Amino acid sequence: MAKFIFVTGGVSSSLGKGIISASLGKLLQTQGFSVTIQKFDPYLNVDPGTLNPYEHGECYVTDDGAETDLDLGHYERFLDISTSQANNVTTGRIYQSVIQKERRGDFLGKTVQVVPHITDEIQRRAQLLAEDGYDIIITEIGGTVGDIESLPFIEAVRQMRMKLGSENCLVIHLTLIVYLAAAKELKTKPTQHSVKELLQAGVQPDILVCRTEHPLTKEVRRKLALFCNVDRSSVIEAIDADTIYDVPLYMLQEELNVSVISKLKLTPKFQEPNLDSWKAFLARLKNPIHKIRIGLVGKYVELQDAYKSILEAFIHAGAKNETEVEVVSIHSEQLENDNNVNKLLSGLNGILVAPGFGDRGIEGKIIAVRYARENKVPFLGICLGMQCAAIEYARNMLGYKDAHSTEMNPNTQHNIIDLMEGQKDVDKKGGTMRLGKYDCALTKGSFAYNAYGKSLIYERHRHRFEFNNQYREEFERQGMRISGVNPESNLVEIIEVAEHPWFVGVQFHPEYTSRAETAHPLFCAFVNAALENKNHQRG
Ligand code: GLN
Repeated sequence: MAKFIFVTGGVSSSLGKGIISASLGKLLQTQGFSVTIQKFDPYLNVDPGTLNPYEHGECYVTDDGAETDLDLGHYERFLDISTSQANNVTTGRIYQSVIQKERRGDFLGKTVQVVPHITDEIQRRAQLLAEDGYDIIITEIGGTVGDIESLPFIEAVRQMRMKLGSENCLVIHLTLIVYLAAAKELKTKPTQHSVKELLQAGVQPDILVCRTEHPLTKEVRRKLALFCNVDRSSVIEAIDADTIYDVPLYMLQEELNVSVISKLKLTPKFQEPNLDSWKAFLARLKNPIHKIRIGLVGKYVELQDAYKSILEAFIHAGAKNETEVEVVSIHSEQLENDNNVNKLLSGLNGILVAPGFGDRGIEGKIIAVRYARENKVPFLGICLGMQCAAIEYARNMLGYKDAHSTEMNPNTQHNIIDLMEGQKDVDKKGGTMRLGKYDCALTKGSFAYNAYGKSLIYERHRHRFEFNNQYREEFERQGMRISGVNPESNLVEIIEVAEHPWFVGVQFHPEYTSRAETAHPLFCAFVNAALENKNHQRG
């Protein structure tokens, strides 16, 4: 039978529940347990696919095409597992299924209520992944304890603990220990209040993970244990880390795994977590031999979370190549001013044009592509970035000055990028793009083939528009290499400029599948090309 661990948050949002969950998962995994992690989000959108990055950061996409919270990216990157739709559930999705059942008549004669119908549905979803045979299921509950919208989730946790017993169902509360700089003191009171809030809802946390800027003193630990009703060994310090990838080691030091294993009465296959390969990754990450600068061109670059997976993918690929990758944020709109182009783009060893929607900043992205192509700067275009590369090529190499995507200009005479056939009758926005994993056959000898080292790959997608195959031959005649195609639909997935050190545009999202211990081949190849660019400039 699966064991359940719930992770709640107290005092403040953004404490890193996702990283703590992923770090705990990592430790338990290396002790021989099969672990998965899911995220419950208390908002009413059915999924975050319709939210813009200002609201919700990056939208992460799974193999099965679920549009999810970006924490699932952390779960995958830490645990090297693939998650699915079942790993991310929102209040909207819960209500949607309860209301659908009500319409079907499943509750005929009964009043449908938050308790028990919504809370039952939450529990059903919490246990769904158990059917896949996991030993441990960690569930991160979004939001902060005390929010009105997280109440049904906390009530569901209370009921599950009652039914399954605390040996099978554990609650970890991640909280903030406030530091008062003027008094030079750590304060536990806000944490005491947030635990009280949980207690009011009938849930006693088993373990406190305490996010803090300064080490917890013995006295602070004693106080927290006494006033929050937990063992001394269950007060875990989570001190700010240089990198999120340090956190599993910090949690190991604090014996979070030991506490969890003993409370859940588990017998690990391995007494000690084996983190050898994780440590090797960290050692490479922290001791780079080289350094490169990559420009990330997008319209949300001021937001830390908008391109999360891309930034992480650079960390993985950098570590693999023992290279520090400095990612320089470049606002695409600023490139639309001619005076800025050289100023912002010169001195970069690589340029990445980011995914996106809509026409704000689109010309700036196209300018960045042109700069990379003409100046032989290694280039990676992802999704909209690849589409921009095709448009730029059509305008400047094929001579179609008005070439565009019909997403930005529905009236263009040269619709190099056009709505996919299957999208033409779609009128609803939620979950209707071409989503999830599709095969891609690679052309031998191409940059992509050399990066992956094989001829059939699969990658995750999220788009409605696509390279227009009517222009394919003309592009190829003018030196563009179509190096990746979906074998079933013949959709173009990768374009390359052959006469260039490294110029690749991909319709899919390689960043979603890069993992800490297995960096993504395309990002590795891009980092390598950028390194060569740097050495070349020097030489
Ligand atoms: N807006 C483009 C499309 O829908 C690109 C999407 C993306 O970059 N994820 O095709």
